[in-house]
Amino acid sequence: MKTTSLVCLFLLLLNSQFTIAQTTVDDPEIKKMISEVKSENMEATVRKLVTFGTRHTLSDTKSNTRGIGAAQRWVKSEFDKYALESNGRLTSKIDFFTIKADGRRIAADTQLGNVMATLKGTDATDDRVLIISGHLDSRASDVMDSKIDAPGANDDASGVAAMMELARIMSKREFPFTLIFVAVVGEEQGLYGAKHLADVAKEGKWNVVAMINNDMIGNSLSSGTLLRDNTQVRVFSETIPYLETEAESKMRKSTNRDNDSPSRQLARYIKTVTNQYVEQLDINLVYRNDRFLRGGDHTPFSQNGFTAIRFCEMNENYNHQHQDVRKENSVQFGDLPEFMDFEYMKKVTCSNLATFSNLAWSPKTPTNVGIEVKDLTNFSTLLWTAPAGKPVYGYNILIRETASSHWEKTIFVKDIKAEIPYSKDNFFFAVQSVDEFGHSSLAVFPVPIR
Ligand SMILES: [Zn+2]
Repeated sequence: MKTTSLVCLFLLLLNSQFTIAQTTVDDPEIKKMISEVKSENMEATVRKLVTFGTRHTLSDTKSNTRGIGAAQRWVKSEFDKYALESNGRLTSKIDFFTIKADGRRIAADTQLGNVMATLKGTDATDDRVLIISGHLDSRASDVMDSKIDAPGANDDASGVAAMMELARIMSKREFPFTLIFVAVVGEEQGLYGAKHLADVAKEGKWNVVAMINNDMIGNSLSSGTLLRDNTQVRVFSETIPYLETEAESKMRKSTNRDNDSPSRQLARYIKTVTNQYVEQLDINLVYRNDRFLRGGDHTPFSQNGFTAIRFCEMNENYNHQHQDVRKENSVQFGDLPEFMDFEYMKKVTCSNLATFSNLAWSPKTPTNVGIEVKDLTNFSTLLWTAPAGKPVYGYNILIRETASSHWEKTIFVKDIKAEIPYSKDNFFFAVQSVDEFGHSSLAVFPVPIR
């Protein structure tokens, strides 16, 4: 269901302790940013990246016209253009690191580099970080062939173009905490660039609120089955967190929260925000970390204990993925721009932007979120502690039936405790902080309070 009204506020006084309301507040600034997303910009980025011939991780780094080095320097130069309008808050770098020969897809020790732009926050006391990525490297049929053309228009110039469009638009605005826009390398050789950044974040004890990976978001036609769908995009999220302590595992089992990992809360958040801000695009929540037996750049972040998801088109086209550019029986193979759907890619980028900016302006999550279990009752009582930092306008209590994939009902409260007429035996709940513009934090699943 779409809500287009600026403010819908239905107040219902349930008892003297708190107010129930269903609020949907569209932030005009987010709507304005969404209106600035241009498919022409992203098409130009994709076509430019394709001109480097190949962006294979092990390709030429010296040439200024062909190979991964030229592509890295071009992305950095674009970041530097955006920086001019950021009041000195956007800075860029190529974060070089060395990967040892792995006997698999890295033949010899190789220097790799992620191209990063960091938008500094305006609140020095807010240590939160958001990361959005696409992968710059490409490949052809033979994953070790670093010489042959590998245009990589969809895989993954599309993700890089979306990330750059967000950097361009968001760097003109102020956000309280740090936003990182990154084109990682080494994805096709084994997720090396993302792993490097995930390790830097872990070692530096970064407070990463969310990591969003865009990998293949520009194709809307499936090969073989010929399904055409430009109204859905998949969001992959881990089921049981990769990193889980024994105590967390025990808590998960006792509260049946197998479907409520922080990454899954992020996925549901994306669905809600996309419904609110993006027309004709539904988030298809896929309840697995990635495609069957596969992984992506969000995976090393999940493995390091961070909240991370992947955007990926609904339908994949294997004629145009990991294929040498060639014609066979008059069928064109290869990952070329001519097969892309730039209007679809624009909608997915808008979904990214709505998510990223809502999170970037959100208050911190409520802490100590609990649910009372001392009495047998058909009401449920939730309580929590207000977060530090930016003032909170109120809280959303999110409700869904146990078999439902996404939140079905929202109850808005001003207090830090609420008794709701829904039994904890029949529903799942979570709580998120909200500011007066409707920016909401990620949802927190409650633990029992005895
Ligand atoms: Zn990819």
